[in-house]
Amino acid sequence: MPELPEVEVVCRGLRDHVLGLAVQSMGTSGKALRSFPGKKTGLPLVGQKIHSLERRAKNLVFLMDDWWMLVHLGMSGQLLWLPREAQRPAHSHVWWGFASGQLVYNDPRRFGDVRLVSRGLAGAADSLPASVLGAASTGIEPLSSQFDGNWLYRASRGVRQPIKPWLMRGDLVVGVGNIYASEALFRAGIHPGRPAGRIGPERHTGLADAIRQVLSEAIAGGGSSLRDFVSADGLPGHFATSHRVYGRHGLPCGQCGRVIFRRMQAQRASYFCPGCQH
Ligand SMILES: [Zn+2]
Repeated sequence: MPELPEVEVVCRGLRDHVLGLAVQSMGTSGKALRSFPGKKTGLPLVGQKIHSLERRAKNLVFLMDDWWMLVHLGMSGQLLWLPREAQRPAHSHVWWGFASGQLVYNDPRRFGDVRLVSRGLAGAADSLPASVLGAASTGIEPLSSQFDGNWLYRASRGVRQPIKPWLMRGDLVVGVGNIYASEALFRAGIHPGRPAGRIGPERHTGLADAIRQVLSEAIAGGGSSLRDFVSADGLPGHFATSHRVYGRHGLPCGQCGRVIFRRMQAQRASYFCPGCQH
């Protein structure tokens, strides 16, 4: 599943291609996405210019003349930039033609989404209302300057939920998915099952630093090399080679040599070193 770094990589890769361009044509496969109705929809974006492209949580947010367009990659979505005449891959469901190429939303499992929000909607002219993004995307951005150990420490007082599923709640901190939560907790030396409210201020500072580090490294490396993830130019990412615990159960820890464990936690696999994480 694409996580925050992959979406950030796609966002940065696409900006160079689409900013300032007007949509010349738009088409669909006719198959519905999560809320995109497929062929029944009107295609109102023809003639609309793209003024900005930002990432909000795991949404790609395009600001156009009259519309906001939100693209969520779901489990297996890809947003590809292809030459104008290139054949689109199988499972392409929405595409936008520009003078210099085509943007293609490809998604074999169709859990992703393309949403259009009119800028005429109350409060949506210059910024996207939080209600549009949904509760799972309203938390603090972990790469923003407001996010630090002090923020984590204060937010977690009285919380009995284990730290890992707590970190993965998008209404608190956005975009810290399974891989990055596992990797950050390892770097901070914190056991994924420890209640969030039982972690002291210094360890929260270490954790906030670790979260920013793993996300930044993954972005620099082009995102994790997940099976379904391909960046906007079709290149796989390189962060997977630097995972220290994720997917390494049964292998020795690079720090202490003990075997890395895998445990299910809130329906998600957690990977951790019993020697290094407490
Ligand atoms: Zn270890």
